[in-house]
Amino acid sequence: MDFRLTADQKGVRDSIRELADKVLRPRAAAFEAAGEVPADVRRHLAEMGLFGMLVPERFGGSALDPLSYCLAIEELARACAATSITVSVSNSVVAAPIAAHGSDEQKQSLLPSMARGELLGAFCLTEAHAGSDAAALRTRATRTAEGYRLQGSKAWATNAGWAGLFIIFATLDPALGSRGITAFLVRSGNPGQPAGPPERKMGLRASSTAPVYLDDCEIPSSDRLGEEGRGMAIALETLDAARIGVAAQCVGIAQAAFEEATAYARGRRAFGHPIAEFGAVKAQIADMATDIDAARLLTHHAASLRATGAEFGCQASMAKLWASEAANRVAARAVQIHGAAGYSADSPVERLYRDARVTTIYEGTSEIQRLVIARRLLGSRVHSTPISPGPLA
Ligand SMILES: Cc1cc2nc3c(=O)[nH]c(=O)nc-3n(C[C@H](O)[C@H](O)[C@H](O)COP(=O)(O)OP(=O)(O)OC[C@H]3O[C@@H](n4cnc5c(N)ncnc54)[C@H](O)[C@@H]3O)c2cc1C
Repeated sequence: MDFRLTADQKGVRDSIRELADKVLRPRAAAFEAAGEVPADVRRHLAEMGLFGMLVPERFGGSALDPLSYCLAIEELARACAATSITVSVSNSVVAAPIAAHGSDEQKQSLLPSMARGELLGAFCLTEAHAGSDAAALRTRATRTAEGYRLQGSKAWATNAGWAGLFIIFATLDPALGSRGITAFLVRSGNPGQPAGPPERKMGLRASSTAPVYLDDCEIPSSDRLGEEGRGMAIALETLDAARIGVAAQCVGIAQAAFEEATAYARGRRAFGHPIAEFGAVKAQIADMATDIDAARLLTHHAASLRATGAEFGCQASMAKLWASEAANRVAARAVQIHGAAGYSADSPVERLYRDARVTTIYEGTSEIQRLVIARRLLGSRVHSTPISPGPLA
């Protein structure tokens, strides 16, 4: 495997780093305090093409290769994790499945405005009682003369407060289990889809997360995404690929925590020396750097497999599993190295510690990633749990 980046990939990384350092990093704490990535910042990112990274060029996007996309998400997360998830959800779990499974009409009518960032996407699989076991979802779709009526509610939908377009997974017949689940496209402003109140969260407080209600929500047949009964297959395929982006987000969070910790260790003095001179601190720095390198390599490996068209699902889960747990370890060590200063709500590492926490939960928990990896290694016959390997962010 060649670990060198191409000139184009370096160009993507460097330009997003410059943008993120200028526009996001200095304001990440203010975004969190305000509880939002401000609309002017989202507009600026849109003008820079960040919401079209996975939109095909013929619909106005930049169609980045999987590794370039990871580099972009890592740089955004290094500056502001909440912004990175806002961008990645619209790209990887809304625009990407529409590009892959949408009708020509859906692609033509939706993807150009998604690429311009005018239409932000939300992906709604999780329900209050069905997260890891997504096939147990209860939102109902009923056929009508013109199309479908949706009834139910979704939980924890990222971007819900800002989205113009929601992918809703609903069942046409609960007796069919996962084979009854179908994906639908719902526009904001549909009278059958009142907005839910924002979740109060431990971290990623500047990202929008809310329930989505479907109250006799009528949609035309043309707004079904893919065939009836194919919804779970679309969700799982989408999440397999999107997990690589979450792994990249984790690498970015860990990298930021590492940079804060090394800078602090060099400057903070105790017993007449910079604390960076103490063996116990050096060991933590070495472990943090090793964790980050391993996470980045697993992420880039999964992205490279995907780019070549090879099977990548197992490596995507490995990357997501390792990178999310590494981000938590690294952020915890960064707090430790800061001592009380790291416990202050004014410290960037305190925010990074809280932002990292969700990464072992969303897009499929660590427990579910391990089941997915083991099933792919051992074959599905030895695994009898009816797992639908977990939703997303
Ligand atoms: C900030 C945030 C943003 C999110 N964004 C989105 C989004 O945009 N769209 C969306 O659809 N969802 C989203 N989610 C939901 C997220 O994907 C789910 O929370 C996640 O899949 C876990 O589901 P759950 O919370 O219901 O936990 P549960 O499934 O109830 O799991 C609880 C615990 O049991 C464990 N567990 C469950 N089943 C097994 C098993 N078979 N073996 C071993 N352990 C198991 C889990 O690992 C976990 O530790 C988001 C969540 C958060 C917190």
